Amino acid sequence: WFICFEGGDGAGKTTQVRLLTEALERRGLQVLVTREPGGTPLGAQIRNLVLHGDHVAPRAEALLFAADKAHHVAELIRPALDEGRVVITDRYTDSSIAYQGAGRDLGADEIRRLQQWAVGGLFPDLTIILDVTPEVGRARRGDVHDRLESEADDFHAAVRQGFLDLAARDPERYLVVDAGLPPEQIAARVLGRLDALWVG
Ligand code: C5P
Ligand code: MG
Repeated sequence: WFICFEGGDGAGKTTQVRLLTEALERRGLQVLVTREPGGTPLGAQIRNLVLHGDHVAPRAEALLFAADKAHHVAELIRPALDEGRVVITDRYTDSSIAYQGAGRDLGADEIRRLQQWAVGGLFPDLTIILDVTPEVGRARRGDVHDRLESEADDFHAAVRQGFLDLAARDPERYLVVDAGLPPEQIAARVLGRLDALWVG
């Protein structure tokens, strides 16, 4: 099983990844937890270049994130799935479609094709979108740490809409949750959806 958490900066993805991992491990499942960008040593270098380096042209940014992803899938995600582990990732292809496609205005369809190629067609069984408004996201992330977090609210509003558009295209593979709910309540919804998926 391949499960992905997505959402804007400050949505609370990291907390939800932890809560779900704990719940699945209590059930005796073997879980690999990872993240993008930066899930591998090469990815960590790419992350540092893109988020903390100097200006990066939008198409170069998209390609660097795609390179991180291609390596991540080949080295970590596919092997873990092949071993029968559950993989939970903090961000995946949808972040690229939302941030570079919608936020940077490179076009969601083109970025989607780039993702498809980078990951060799491997997409999650379930993607959870933690839906956060730009205002709440800004308040939650507090001090700005990187280039993308420091973008203006209208960039984050476009990213948010990018995520919601992806979920609307394919409701079977998505769960959208209001990121403003208490964390335990969000976790319960996620687990409920997974249980329905596993039974069905
Ligand atoms: O969630 P995390 O803080 O690790 O993400 C790092 C940053 O990378 C985020 O600010 C996000 O905006 C950005 N990002 C991106 N495109 C991706 C993945 C992440 O712009 N495909
Ligand atoms: Mg961040």
